[in-house]
Amino acid sequence: MTTRIAKEFRWEMAHRLPFHTAGCQNIHGHSYKLWVELEGTPDYRGMVMDYIDLKAVVEPIIRQLDHSFLCDRSDELMVQFFRTNTLKVNYVDFPTTAENIAQYLLREIAFRLRESQSVAVRRIRVRVQETERTYAEVALDF
Ligand SMILES: [Zn+2]
Repeated sequence: MTTRIAKEFRWEMAHRLPFHTAGCQNIHGHSYKLWVELEGTPDYRGMVMDYIDLKAVVEPIIRQLDHSFLCDRSDELMVQFFRTNTLKVNYVDFPTTAENIAQYLLREIAFRLRESQSVAVRRIRVRVQETERTYAEVALDF
């Protein structure tokens, strides 16, 4: 029977949206919340995936992002700043909206799950919650 499991992760991160004109163009941070949902038929143990294994896949990604600035490579102002300051930064090739972060995390998690050979997983859904009232969600058949 198709079954869905989920685990929540949290991290703190700064970003900005240079194109924005209503506030998000300023450097600011969020207490991000990530829900990773895995759907599949439980294996002989009764597990879609061991939560410990899921944590082992996702936690390194979260650690990398935590207390960093997520910098769009096309954001010249910030790229210039980080050239001369040794602060924690992660460069990406997209505007750092919740939608794009969700897609990015989904790709990263899917790639690592394939390597971990989680055979029971058939579908992955990732929800990135940026504020108490907003989230972006993406899914991928696996
Ligand atoms: Zn923001």
